[in-house]
Amino acid sequence: SERTLIVVKPDGVQRGLAGEIISRFERKGFKLAGSKFMRVSEELARKHYQVHEGKYFYDRLVRYICSGPVLAMVWEAEGIIAMSRKMMGATFGYDAEPGTIRGDYSCSKGNNLVHGSDSVESAEFEIGLWFDEGELV
Ligand code: ATP
Ligand code: MG
Repeated sequence: SERTLIVVKPDGVQRGLAGEIISRFERKGFKLAGSKFMRVSEELARKHYQVHEGKYFYDRLVRYICSGPVLAMVWEAEGIIAMSRKMMGATFGYDAEPGTIRGDYSCSKGNNLVHGSDSVESAEFEIGLWFDEGELV
């Protein structure tokens, strides 16, 4: 079934919110297909955010995702991309609805705790970028 890349970003890890984020996805009924706690190289960050290359916030975005360890995960469920994006909430914490991850735990613009793929195509690209096939069950 459908898979998505979810990354608990450096601020989420530093604030001790990784467990809370995993817990929400587990309770929703999503299936974990892989996970690793890791540092993000600049090369990986630049590829991951290549759709934003040239935008004014691109360099800051790359520095942010590389600023500390992250928890990268692949989760699986039918329709997971749309559902997980709803559960994460709007891009900026101050816009995100209460009840969502960003809405409940972030009030900032840049530091929004978590990443989730936004389409089937980007999920396939991102999962291939972050994980080897042998790391996924
Ligand atoms: P993510 O891809 O991290 O799950 P998203 O899909 O909600 O978030 P995108 O439009 O893909 O948002 O932007 C990627 C990241 O770039 C955002 O999470 C945010 O940290 C940052 N970002 C996006 N737009 C802006 C902006 N206008 N100013 C500053 N930072 C931004
Ligand atoms: Mg995005």
